[in-house]
Amino acid sequence: MDKRCPDCGVTMEGGTLVSSVDREAVKLRTDESAGGVLGKLGMKETLPIDAWACPECGLVRLYAESE
Ligand SMILES: [Zn+2]
Repeated sequence: MDKRCPDCGVTMEGGTLVSSVDREAVKLRTDESAGGVLGKLGMKETLPIDAWACPECGLVRLYAESE
C-alpha cells in the first residue's frame, strides 16, 4: 500500500517500530472503549503496528494492522 506524507506529498518508507529495550516490535493494545475502525477489529486485541516515515520531513505515521 502506498503511503504519502500529508505535508510533502512524497512516498513514505515503511518499517517496524521496535522497543529499544527488548528489540521486539511495538504493538497496539485496544481497550473496551475502542471505537471506529479499531472497535470493528475487535476489543482487547493486540495488533501489530506498521511505521511509515517521510524521507523529507521525518514525519512518522503509525498504522495498526488487522490480520
Ligand atoms: Zn514529509
